Amino acid sequence: MKTLYEQWFPSDFQGFFQKKMPHDLPKAYDPTAIEDHWAEYWVREKLFAVPTPEPGNASGQNRDPAGQAFTILLPPPNVTGRLHMGHMLNQTEMDILTRWRRMSGRKALWLPGTDHAGIATQMMVERQLTEEGTTRQALGREAFVARVWEWRRHYGGAILDQMKRLGASVDWDREYFTMDERLSVAVREAFVRLYEQGLIYRGAYIVNWCPRCQTAISDLEVVYDEHKGHLWEIRYSVLSTSGQDSGEYITVATTRPETMLGDTAVAIHPEDERYTHLHGKKLRLPLMNREIPIVLDEWVSREFGTGAVKVTPAHDPNDFAIGERHHLPSINVMDDRAHINGNGGPYAGLDRYVARKRIVEDLEAQGLLAGIKDHIHNVGHCDRCKAIVEPRLSTQWFIKIQPLADKAIAAVEEGHIRFTPEMYKKTYLNWMSNIHDWCISRQLWWGHRIPAWHCAVCHKITVPRPHSKEDPTHCSHCNSDQIVQETDVLDTWFSSGLLPVSVFGWPNIAKGEGAPDPTHLETSRSDFDAFYPTSLLVTGFDILFFWVARMIMLGCWFSTDVKMPDGSERPLSESVPFKEVYIHALVRDANREKMSKTKGNVIDPIEIVKQYGTDAVRFTLASMASPGTDIAFNVARTEGYRAFANKIWNAARFIFMNVDKAAEVGIFPHRDLLGGMPAVDEDAPLEARWITSELWSTAGKIEDLLENYRFDEAANTIYQFVWGSFCDWYLEIVKLRLDFSVNTDRANATQNLTTLVQVFEASLRLLSPFMPFITEEIWHAVYDGNPPAKSIALAKYPFGDEGMVDAAAIKAMTFIQNLITETRGLRKEIGVEEKATVPIEVRADAASSKIVEDNREIVERLAKVSELRLVSELSAGLAKHSTPAFDVAVIYERTIDVSAERERLTKECARLEKLVANDEKALADPGFTGKAPAHIVEGRKKQLAENQLLLAKCRAALDALPEE
Ligand SMILES: [Zn+2]
Ligand SMILES: [Zn+2]
Repeated sequence: MKTLYEQWFPSDFQGFFQKKMPHDLPKAYDPTAIEDHWAEYWVREKLFAVPTPEPGNASGQNRDPAGQAFTILLPPPNVTGRLHMGHMLNQTEMDILTRWRRMSGRKALWLPGTDHAGIATQMMVERQLTEEGTTRQALGREAFVARVWEWRRHYGGAILDQMKRLGASVDWDREYFTMDERLSVAVREAFVRLYEQGLIYRGAYIVNWCPRCQTAISDLEVVYDEHKGHLWEIRYSVLSTSGQDSGEYITVATTRPETMLGDTAVAIHPEDERYTHLHGKKLRLPLMNREIPIVLDEWVSREFGTGAVKVTPAHDPNDFAIGERHHLPSINVMDDRAHINGNGGPYAGLDRYVARKRIVEDLEAQGLLAGIKDHIHNVGHCDRCKAIVEPRLSTQWFIKIQPLADKAIAAVEEGHIRFTPEMYKKTYLNWMSNIHDWCISRQLWWGHRIPAWHCAVCHKITVPRPHSKEDPTHCSHCNSDQIVQETDVLDTWFSSGLLPVSVFGWPNIAKGEGAPDPTHLETSRSDFDAFYPTSLLVTGFDILFFWVARMIMLGCWFSTDVKMPDGSERPLSESVPFKEVYIHALVRDANREKMSKTKGNVIDPIEIVKQYGTDAVRFTLASMASPGTDIAFNVARTEGYRAFANKIWNAARFIFMNVDKAAEVGIFPHRDLLGGMPAVDEDAPLEARWITSELWSTAGKIEDLLENYRFDEAANTIYQFVWGSFCDWYLEIVKLRLDFSVNTDRANATQNLTTLVQVFEASLRLLSPFMPFITEEIWHAVYDGNPPAKSIALAKYPFGDEGMVDAAAIKAMTFIQNLITETRGLRKEIGVEEKATVPIEVRADAASSKIVEDNREIVERLAKVSELRLVSELSAGLAKHSTPAFDVAVIYERTIDVSAERERLTKECARLEKLVANDEKALADPGFTGKAPAHIVEGRKKQLAENQLLLAKCRAALDALPEE
């Protein structure tokens, strides 16, 4: 005879259940145990790789007709970087969007890479050299650059390794480094084309010079701090026509007296009547004994100071402009380290601040110092090394910003790029319409060396022809072979500004020739056709101008080389590097303070992840990330989301336990129904109709919210659904249906079990972009380790449909929930013990009574009701709660432990007697009543009355106790 077990078990399941259950999750949720495993799995299995599409035909079949690919570039972190909270937020947002789009059926490509970070990396390696007692100069350029590459091989991958551990769903096969060969080709090509188009020039210009980093730095890399300094007033002697001191002086004022060594004029306003008689006169420059002219310039403010300003064209941008207008010579008086150079006469060789002191002393000694005033002014510091920046004339390479800027403005004005929050559109347009020519040269050794050669014979410049990969060997002007390559490198933002075109193969594809260059096999037209323009850029405000604006300028400029897949010209709408820009907020500390090393309030994301798990940290950031609002990161919230993950874990264990119990009697959920959206019959139990409706409606909301970058509301909506609706209500109710005894209705039990597993499985998918690790772990368990895809990230995202929402079920369930909540509240108020079941009376209209009647077992179970009586009038004398829709009363007589209660009340009476005695004593004391303010005395009287009342009640309760 067959055993019960053999009768019920389909033969193919027998072996299965004799083994350990694959969905047997460990009792405790331990994020580190599961996260390391899946992070490694996702990378190893190349789950997020998006290979270059097969070359399509001319009609552009590579483009996904359903709305193209979803492409997003990771803002490349500096190769020197370590992950901070800003990255964590940025990457969480990108990962949520990419995972969501991927699961929603888009071809989702998130492309990672690192930036070679010119100054930062060079400094890092220079610091190493200092420790070794050497310098880059001693090493020489070639050896130094080799050292930097070596450094990069050892340490450069750190930040991407951190990203891998955090589960970012990027395509690691496409990882780039901005100094990679193929990207360097693009940099060179962009330079030579702009040069040929007359948009790159070399010129003398005042740049922000960092004497520590010994390079020009961009305006954006200068940080201004308020400084308490001085304004030194210096007298310049007016010369007579014969060149003698006339005895008259003009007084000028300066905050940087050392720059006077390079003065080449003093400027006054042409209509300044104080100086009309000096028009055309000359002055003697103190200390240097140089004759300098007085020039008339309307830029000079008559109201400021004496109305006369010294002009140092080589050390001040405004003075430089005056110098240009009046054809004044520029005398640079400082070297690269901001020491006075040979042009500084007796001060040559001195550090700028030593020279300042000496100059002021010398002026004073000669009676030429008219005064010193305290002066608060802004001083620029190098953003990297904090040294005080020296405005200084030098020869640099520039990009003529027009017409690039106009095109970049049009792209945004015409709506081809959308900013979120929208206010950044205005910021961008404002900045772009005031933009200056872009200084692209840096005096560094680490970076893309400028592809231009100087001729020692004719002093002209030779730049390779476009598409040429050979370095020139002869001057293109005089054919001399005496040519040397420019020593400057390009600004890092020049290469990162090209990324959207260069990572997809520009300029190689631009030639439109058949076979791609064999050295660039990984790129092809197909990539560009499939992925350009990218869909979205997620970045911080701090690099809106550095990077975002430059990508728009360069992207719009160069992508027009590449025809559309159908052979037509590329319109501006398809030239933009991205269609949308989402600017995320700052992560601050819990007190809304900006995180800073000096304040010591920096939160290390890796530490928090170790403590709470990546999923909880991601969820914290998402739940607080709304457009335009900074995040006050609070660990208490992360703790809460860690508890959320725990809740989900326990729900999974509960569900699996029931699946196992059901299997013991041969009941199995319909596995083939998993993976989609659940639908139930009209006659299914209320909670089944309700939870499926909730799921459909939640999925719809999430889609809208993510579409609009409302990460916060999306996270909170899922949280409410999973914890509130699913765990707190549905799981509690469904316990009623999980009866897997021999006599159970097998069809119903199967259906109920199926709905339970279906809704749970769909919830995991809904949550997966936010908490990818725990959902992956449990999802595999749902399928007993044999899921329909390699990862939940490749499963289908739940989608919404209002048509699938059963409004009647939601209405009925809401009524039942309210009834349960009121009943629970009432029980608590009247002190019903937690475990006791009690009868209740409910009064409601006919329709609602029908709902209660149909679902009485739900109310009885969840509100611990022994008997639910539907009445037309509540019995008198019962504790009750009323709502507009119903009244509910709990029938309860407390059973108490009489002796314990007598002891408690006796103590309470004694305590009150003491208080009353104290109050009476105080009020009888004239020392108190006479001296204390009236309101204090009144207060004491009131207190006495209250205590007397409480004492009376306590004694009555004691008297009312039955005899033991
Ligand atoms: Zn510096
Ligand atoms: Zn030449």
